[in-house]
Amino acid sequence: MVVVERPGDQAGAEADAAVTVVPGAALCVTVADCAPVALLGDGVLGVVHAGWRGLLAGVVDAAVEALAALGPGPVRAVIGPCIEASCYEFGTHELEALVADLGEEVRGCTADGRPALDLGGGVRAALARAGVDECQRLDVCTACSQEHWSYRHERAGARQALVACLVP
Ligand SMILES: [Zn+2]
Repeated sequence: MVVVERPGDQAGAEADAAVTVVPGAALCVTVADCAPVALLGDGVLGVVHAGWRGLLAGVVDAAVEALAALGPGPVRAVIGPCIEASCYEFGTHELEALVADLGEEVRGCTADGRPALDLGGGVRAALARAGVDECQRLDVCTACSQEHWSYRHERAGARQALVACLVP
């Protein structure tokens, strides 16, 4: 988690999330199958990189908390394109850990009926738990989409970016 205090501050930092109150300071996370999340409060902005390990580690909760510390008030969220359950076969041991933490919303099923992780559902559950009611989820699977990089589907070395900025 990094707090960006001016444009360019923390550029290239390795972190699961970034938050700012500075208009004009663009925040960015890069992903290929993990979920990029934008959080917008009253004069506060955050971006989150949420994979399954991060979900279990509470990155979503931590980011919402960091936003609240900078500016209390309701937070809206957008979950960007990530790998969907139909393409994300998942080990049952890890899946049960996620279900225990976040609820049945994370349990999915692949196209051929194997246990799968609904990553976007897990992010939505974590957001709801953290008090974020308004959440938009883009309905695009990075593994199926020709327009997105997918690590699991094509072992892509490239990433897409979510970029967000408070307008001055
Ligand atoms: Zn897919």
